[in-house]
Amino acid sequence: MAETRQCIVDQVTYPITEGVVLQQLDTSTRNLIKTDFPKAKVTDFICNHHLLKYQLLRVNSLIAADIKQSQKINKRLTKALENDDYDIIDVNEHLNRSLTFGQRISDAVAHFGGSWGFIGIFVFVLVGWMLVNGLGLFGVHFDKYPFILLNLVLSCVAAVQAPIIMMSQNRAADRDRMDSENDYHVNLKSEHELRILHAKLDNLTQRQIPHTMEIQKIQIEILSQIRTEIDDLQTKSKE
Ligand SMILES: [Zn+2]
Repeated sequence: MAETRQCIVDQVTYPITEGVVLQQLDTSTRNLIKTDFPKAKVTDFICNHHLLKYQLLRVNSLIAADIKQSQKINKRLTKALENDDYDIIDVNEHLNRSLTFGQRISDAVAHFGGSWGFIGIFVFVLVGWMLVNGLGLFGVHFDKYPFILLNLVLSCVAAVQAPIIMMSQNRAADRDRMDSENDYHVNLKSEHELRILHAKLDNLTQRQIPHTMEIQKIQIEILSQIRTEIDDLQTKSKE
């Protein structure tokens, strides 16, 4: 006759192969049994049938803990997205819409004034002016050497061009400021979301995966209990 033990739950006697001693169980499952039977010792015996209930309880508590933690992180993510009410500005569109006629002209002048085309035309006009007046071509000489009128015209062009270029530069500075403000907010948002993503990943690797492993372990334990019972039935049927 095989060795027998009393189940801690219903005090019925079972062969020792149809159950386990509490010592063999992992701490969490053992603690679950101890909440129902505070007097249980590590040397006490529990039959497979009653053990199954505690194993399922353990699995449930693992799943519940995981779901709770995921919900907590998701709540943080939703809150962070709600709090972020900064609208990213389309800088080009914003500037184009707010441009006045004068500003458009100043941009065009600054653009043309800073090109090789402008230098070419300007040199052509200067040389033409000097040739026409200096040599008296076509009988025209309204500004004889040393071209005092040409000096005046050049001064006027420079005087007008400088503030126009500055206007255009101011607008370029505005654009840079808007760009950097946009960048700052986008960076801030990304950083925040990255931090939450980190929390999610940590939760996955440090909690959910170990929990899944533990659930698998319990599954294997249950399977091995079933295996033992099948073996027992086979031996009995052979007898
Ligand atoms: Zn039992």
